[in-house]
Amino acid sequence: MPSSVDWATFNSMSTGIRAVGLVSGGLDSALAVAVVKRAGVDVVGLHVAIGFSNASMRREILGESRDIIASEESVRMSAAFRVPVRVVDFSGEYMDVLLHPRHGYGANANPCIDCHIFMIKKAREIMVREGAHFVFTGEVLGQRPMSQNIRALELIDRESGLEGFLVRPLSARLLPGTVVEKNGWLDGDALLDIQGRSRRRQMELAAEMGVTGYSAPAGGCMLTDEHYAGRLKDWLQYRGSAPLRREETLLFSVGRHFRLSASVKLVVGRHEAEDLSRERERRSGWLASPLDVPGPTVLVQGLPSDDCLRVAASFVARYGGAKCSPAARVVVRRGDVEKIFTAVPASEDLIERCRI
Ligand code: SF4
Repeated sequence: MPSSVDWATFNSMSTGIRAVGLVSGGLDSALAVAVVKRAGVDVVGLHVAIGFSNASMRREILGESRDIIASEESVRMSAAFRVPVRVVDFSGEYMDVLLHPRHGYGANANPCIDCHIFMIKKAREIMVREGAHFVFTGEVLGQRPMSQNIRALELIDRESGLEGFLVRPLSARLLPGTVVEKNGWLDGDALLDIQGRSRRRQMELAAEMGVTGYSAPAGGCMLTDEHYAGRLKDWLQYRGSAPLRREETLLFSVGRHFRLSASVKLVVGRHEAEDLSRERERRSGWLASPLDVPGPTVLVQGLPSDDCLRVAASFVARYGGAKCSPAARVVVRRGDVEKIFTAVPASEDLIERCRI
């Protein structure tokens, strides 16, 4: 958990009221911060890192530490939003939300309602600990079909334990009043009536208020990506009792994935950044690569028979420089064990049948 907050750092016209702003880093949360701050409230931002931001996953795959990524994001958002922003990594705790969402998934593997509740509960903990008066978010009524309709917002209020103490400044005039407005902690005139999917009003407001430095919300959430979701769901179907580890969630975002059997899966690297040898070091899988021509590395997960390794070799031949040749020599290694196959490139039919 973060240490205590320097509330006054960026606030010059303080009313003595304090609020925790849950921020994604995107336009809506940037505006919500600006609106609340303009009303004289001391704001501290909280960014709950759940581990599925596209941008931070890319960095992690390339070997950067999550601590460094979080600390750089904190500096960037604090400067952009002109309030102190804490970026706190809750990715470990979030796994349970991802695997067991009480309110189900959206179109892909995104448990958005449970995710909002989880994040707002984290903001509530900081609010209580820091003696703040309320929590606010950049949610906009009607912007997302699953998690930002009126029923979902009321559900989130109740289940986060913040009913009456959670404000959505961008849509507050369209929503039931809260304790925050009734107590005069936040002037109702400061609040807005934005709704729907268009960002036009937000863009106008951002220009008017000089709000800059925001990014795509959460850097793009991989749980909303259909390919990523397909790989996660495949893993859930065949995992047995295996826990979902961080390395696995990172691997879902890399390369092309193919299932050969209930227990054997292939991951074909697409380019250098997806070099799978690091993965092999972290796990004890087989790694296949071409011997005589350039080509991809292929990670073979599970307990493959020699027949499966031969099929993996055919995928190396298909995706490597030998795809127009009748056959290619492929070496498959695991620790000190090495096997060499002469493989015919996998057929398109096989590729499509195995693709995840
Ligand atoms: S899009 Fe991703 S980060 Fe945003 S609420 Fe849904 S699951 Fe959470």
